[in-house]
Amino acid sequence: MRVYSSRLLGSESSLVLHGGGNTSVKATALDPFGTTHDVLYVKGSGWDLATIEPQGFAPVRLDLLRRLSELPSLADSALVRAQRSALLDPGAPDPSIEAVLHAMIPFAYVDHTHADAVVAITNTPNGEEHARAAFGPRVLLVPYVMPGFKLARTVGDMTRSIDWEGCDGLILLGHGIFTWGSSARASYDAMIRLVTAAEEYLDARGAFRSVRRSECGAGDLVTLARLRREVSELAGRPLVARLNQSAEACGFAAHEKVDSIAARGPVTPDHIIRTKRVPLIFGDEPADAAMSYRDAYGDYFRRHADGSLTMLDPAPRWAVWRDRGVIAFGPTVADANVVHDIAEHTVAVIQWAEVLGGWCALSESDLFAVEYWELEQAKLRKRGSGRPLDGRVAFVTGAASGIGRAVAHELSRQGAAVVGADIRGVPSDQETPTCRHFVCDVTKASDVARAVGETVRQFGGLDILVSNAGVFPRSARIEEMDESLWQDALAINLTSHQRVLQACIPYLRHGVEPSVVVIGSKNVPAPGLGQAAYSASKAGLTQLARVAALELAADGIRVNVLHPNAVFDTGAWTPEVLAARAAAYGVSVEEYKHNNLLGVEVAAHDVALAVAALAGPSFRRTTGAQIPIDGGNDRVI
Ligand code: NAD
Repeated sequence: MRVYSSRLLGSESSLVLHGGGNTSVKATALDPFGTTHDVLYVKGSGWDLATIEPQGFAPVRLDLLRRLSELPSLADSALVRAQRSALLDPGAPDPSIEAVLHAMIPFAYVDHTHADAVVAITNTPNGEEHARAAFGPRVLLVPYVMPGFKLARTVGDMTRSIDWEGCDGLILLGHGIFTWGSSARASYDAMIRLVTAAEEYLDARGAFRSVRRSECGAGDLVTLARLRREVSELAGRPLVARLNQSAEACGFAAHEKVDSIAARGPVTPDHIIRTKRVPLIFGDEPADAAMSYRDAYGDYFRRHADGSLTMLDPAPRWAVWRDRGVIAFGPTVADANVVHDIAEHTVAVIQWAEVLGGWCALSESDLFAVEYWELEQAKLRKRGSGRPLDGRVAFVTGAASGIGRAVAHELSRQGAAVVGADIRGVPSDQETPTCRHFVCDVTKASDVARAVGETVRQFGGLDILVSNAGVFPRSARIEEMDESLWQDALAINLTSHQRVLQACIPYLRHGVEPSVVVIGSKNVPAPGLGQAAYSASKAGLTQLARVAALELAADGIRVNVLHPNAVFDTGAWTPEVLAARAAAYGVSVEEYKHNNLLGVEVAAHDVALAVAALAGPSFRRTTGAQIPIDGGNDRVI
């Protein structure tokens, strides 16, 4: 029942978002010596209420937690260690930092959320009066203090002589709400009853109707790409940017008071580690706005930091693009999606609170204390260094099959957000949030412009172009060739690549470490009999790429060419073609597959690994290069 009702709470985004909130149940457990202990099973750090499993609850000895609550003071890092040493299972996750407070509440089940409606009411100039009017006398209003030990002590002092039976919940001003009960249902019902009371209070005052909705102008996507690059530079690493142009996001971006109401702080201090204190607000000049944000963040840090702290990166995590929408940033698509969701709730809650006299978040110093809290810093450190292409955005043509498909998968596996474009669609189960597909005929300029634009709209910019789409025409000697064979080979293998480059360059110019990888062919250095159209088109493509390397170097865009040969797990090589070619050389299919100096088979994945390396930092000083991927060929060497 504890797991079940925790998931119910976690599945409602207006109660908790992405790992927020916590729940517990008091029960008994045996230690290895057979002794029974009273235990608090409390949500473990790193678990999300929406998806929590039984093992997500850390079993902590209740007697030790209650003794901790009697200490006059305790640093939060010491609290974390003390809680760990009170675990009955050393393999359990770190108990929630609110475990001591859960332990003090004398009911079996305890629930804690950051319900939107509750924080909207308390984050107002007369928050306490509004809360009293909304929730009635059977709740305890707790002034804001830092979560963790200080909060537990404050509640301990306030409840020393209260009759818990006469109290239905704690309203933590500027933070959230606790409820409890002797059953999971009773605690859950108390939560829903109090949050509903808050919603009715807001509704009666027109709060929900006050949320602005409008349509946005499309916005210049180059401006979006420029903003993403500026913000990535401030962050010191590439970030994807997700543009939200929902009616609510556009309504907020067009709000006449947006500069003021967006700049007062987050809905609950819990969000600050994800969102920073305030968003960046800009119109059409992202560079100036980013510099002002950086300077303001530095000033904020210096106003509140003591000498022991190191400043975090001064990059915003979300932005309001005036009249255009709301943008969320993150080192991965998943991180940006979390910020996107938090921002969606934030813009609504801010406007509800405006109706109650004005949105007023916690003070700058309270928010700073949470942003630079030792425990939050520890969470950040645990995240590790990530994958090589985290935060980069890639566009791959011909991604429905063979080499293109392997490249899209590999870039996405290495962290990039990828858009694949192909004349053929792919089944929707092959799409993921980080690997999207568009049907696009690269020989049509309008298709290409749409697919490239959609890439920027989805992920905020473009860093990596893999120009791969191609066809391998049937063998025909020059004197026998029909015109369409020649024309089609040139249209797809050469002309379309110029179009794709042309469409991508305006965005690549503002990309992060921008890189173009062109898929040529062994036929460029070593052409084959009967392959005039293919070899000539690929030679032209290689020359196009070399000129691109010359032209784009000044913008920092690298252009390199890979020349694969005999990559058999692709659409080009049907079993019939393979058998015919092997027979033509008088060898078996297996011998034909290994017919290179190293005697190895070259797979699409081998080409994909080379593309990822060329696009990544290993080759950051290389442009204009041509690299064979052919197992070694004496005609090429
Ligand atoms: P493939 O047929 O598996 O993939 C090519 C993809 O390009 C297909 O999904 C196809 O639908 C797509 N495509 C074709 N025309 C298109 C158009 N007009 N618009 C959009 N997409 C289009 O073959 P592959 O071997 O993976 O080919 C990828 C690239 O690798 C090609 O440029 C090819 O010349 C090159 N190459 C392949 C080999 C090999 O042995 N397979 C060797 C050297 C070079």
